[in-house]
Amino acid sequence: SNRCVTAADILKELEEKCATPTAKLRQISDAMSVEMHAGLASEGGSKLKMLISYVDNLPTGEEQGVFYALDLGGTNFRVLRVQLTGKSAIECQEFAEVSIPPQLMVGTAQALFDYIALELAKFVADESEKFQLLAGRQRELGFTFSFPVMQLSIDSGTLIRWTKGFSIQEMVGKDVVAELAASMKRQGVNMRVSALVNDTVGTLAGGRYGNKDVNIAVILGTGSNAAYVERAQAIPKWHGPHPKSGEMVINMEWGNFRSSHLPITEYDTALDAESLYPGEQIFEKMISGMYLGDVLRRVLLRMAEEANLFGETVPPKLKTQFILRTPEMSAMHHDKSPDLNVVGSKLKDILDISETNLSTRKIVVEVCNVMATRGARLAAAGILGILKKTGRDSLRDGEIPQTAIAMDGGLYEHYTEYRHCVENTLYELLGDEVGKHVKLVLSNDGSGIGAALLAASHSQYI
Ligand code: ADP
Ligand code: MG
Repeated sequence: SNRCVTAADILKELEEKCATPTAKLRQISDAMSVEMHAGLASEGGSKLKMLISYVDNLPTGEEQGVFYALDLGGTNFRVLRVQLTGKSAIECQEFAEVSIPPQLMVGTAQALFDYIALELAKFVADESEKFQLLAGRQRELGFTFSFPVMQLSIDSGTLIRWTKGFSIQEMVGKDVVAELAASMKRQGVNMRVSALVNDTVGTLAGGRYGNKDVNIAVILGTGSNAAYVERAQAIPKWHGPHPKSGEMVINMEWGNFRSSHLPITEYDTALDAESLYPGEQIFEKMISGMYLGDVLRRVLLRMAEEANLFGETVPPKLKTQFILRTPEMSAMHHDKSPDLNVVGSKLKDILDISETNLSTRKIVVEVCNVMATRGARLAAAGILGILKKTGRDSLRDGEIPQTAIAMDGGLYEHYTEYRHCVENTLYELLGDEVGKHVKLVLSNDGSGIGAALLAASHSQYI
């Protein structure tokens, strides 16, 4: 290999290419806001789909009864049921989580949905007496389906395309509710799907239930996306009836945002080219949990190949796509031991790199830091874009409006450095005066509860 290049040189170049100074973040947030306008103006007007959710009323707290939710959109799916009391309270709540066998993510629609419906059937069979379905009523379900969907109504919608590692081509263009309902029927589940919701919309609904200031929801998990409350009059492409509330929740599908201002590196370009959806989900590929670990791997691979970071030979496993997952990256990044023992053991366990010295481990942590910092700062710039678009970053009628942003997703929840960086960057961008009026609130599993609440507010019995 080329002896002239050191890992420190590659690191320095990486830091320069990934830099996100405040001025750059402002350009990115402006671009986000411009694309939001374009996506609302006409169908296909922007890379941002700005999907109409058909949710024009968020939960009020008066919802009552037993409701179910099913959340599909990542590596696991969850089923849950809640008993709502009608006083902004959830009397009881139970859930089950099941992982999705990888072969079902790229198999047939029937295999995937039958698997889900079977788990749902088992869960329903387990319903205890704490849950009181009113006599003569059918159970109702909110279906959180976290992929881009063109909604046709609150309870139907067609899949635009897959993301996050799923790829079942026959499903594209099909009504996902009809598909689920058919599987439920086959598995003997008697339940009506009352609401089809994106996880961001569910998180917004769940967040609003507990906090009236919630107007925006952001997911940072396997993938990334955002939803927010828009004025119906600001949606030129909406030709339906004017909602009474004057508002409509928009599912941005911000994962597909892209801009010439984004700090894209050779590693991003290669990751994109080798991905299931080249050219798509560029923002998501830079900020979300599915991809962060793999960008890290690509940087380490180049350091191994060109600067012998791990010795004379390149560790073969370092060439395996997605071998280094974001939770492992997070564990290495948070290693506070003087010898960086966690980094050492992760490199050994995951990549079969047996001997590493402290300076090598420090470089690995530094690369984690560069990639996580870039992702978190870009996510904060995206949030600023929404605040700008909705005028929540400045005076309105002489006052700065109070905004709460419901945050969910395993990346935000568990990757502490990343979360702190999102928070700090947002307040850095907003400044003290506006910052006082904006809060980030962790809305743990808000999307599941939100979907159940939306099933309640769109019940066939009201
Ligand atoms: P999903 O996005 O699949 O619906 P979650 O919101 O639970 O589910 O997010 C799971 C994702 O969060 C994982 O794919 C992973 O990328 C990320 N994640 C989970 N745990 C951690 C962790 N400890 N550190 C960093 N990232 C994590
Ligand atoms: Mg999720």
